[in-house]
Amino acid sequence: MVLEKLDQIIKRYNNQKEIKDGEFANCINNNKVNQNSFACSLCKDRGIILKGETAVPCTCMKQKSIENSFKYARLSKELLNCRFENFNLEYYNSPDGDKNHYINAQKAFTASEEFCKKVLKNPNEIGLLFTGPVGSGKTFLAASIANELIEKRCKVLFLIVPDLLDELRASYTSKSDATEFDLLDIARSVPILIMDDLGAHNYTEWTRNRIYSILNYRMNEQLPTVITTNLDFTEIEHYLGERTCSRLLQMCRIFRLTTHQDIRMQKYVKREKNR
Ligand SMILES: [Zn+2]
Repeated sequence: MVLEKLDQIIKRYNNQKEIKDGEFANCINNNKVNQNSFACSLCKDRGIILKGETAVPCTCMKQKSIENSFKYARLSKELLNCRFENFNLEYYNSPDGDKNHYINAQKAFTASEEFCKKVLKNPNEIGLLFTGPVGSGKTFLAASIANELIEKRCKVLFLIVPDLLDELRASYTSKSDATEFDLLDIARSVPILIMDDLGAHNYTEWTRNRIYSILNYRMNEQLPTVITTNLDFTEIEHYLGERTCSRLLQMCRIFRLTTHQDIRMQKYVKREKNR
């Protein structure tokens, strides 16, 4: 699946801002009554149906809006499959009997589910930070949170940090529609931001400041952020600086995920065994 280009997302985001709850008006303009085939037979693609004397939005509009939210959040096909019900604690069982992987994973999993429930009631709920090596299930949990909340109609943006850095650099050097400020603005102000893989990347002073500005804004506005990283706190401080590091501590609960073996490797072995 090709992810939507950032300038397209921003355009759509701005359009969404304009019409806001105007799904309604939008539907009426989308009148396709003269065509013979309709995607929705209930409202004939008008988006509204009559209930007695009043026009109400058709159920297909709700579906469409959820689909748009998934696109808006920029989740890849792979990540769309990450759901709490598929989170398999078996991967955290260690052959040497070490229970720590399992206990930690269970804590992180419970915290993720709790976060989703709480944030629906409190838009300023404290965020989560998952640390741990590659293949320990951090992104899986972060994406599960995103999917769960999008379905509950929250506005979520899933940013993969290396891609974000590329896009920031591109917006800095090119004349693309997406300006740095648009991108930063959305990352700062989106109700729920997921930053995946805040790792050992090639930060410049300039990108480091941008990351700081996103996190600092979100901390001040108490907007929940979910972060995954394979760095420990000394490393985060080294790559991103002390002030960013200290903000992360304030705005997130921290959970460490570990396994006896990379989960992708465990899956690989299992898959090949069954061939
Ligand atoms: Zn309909």
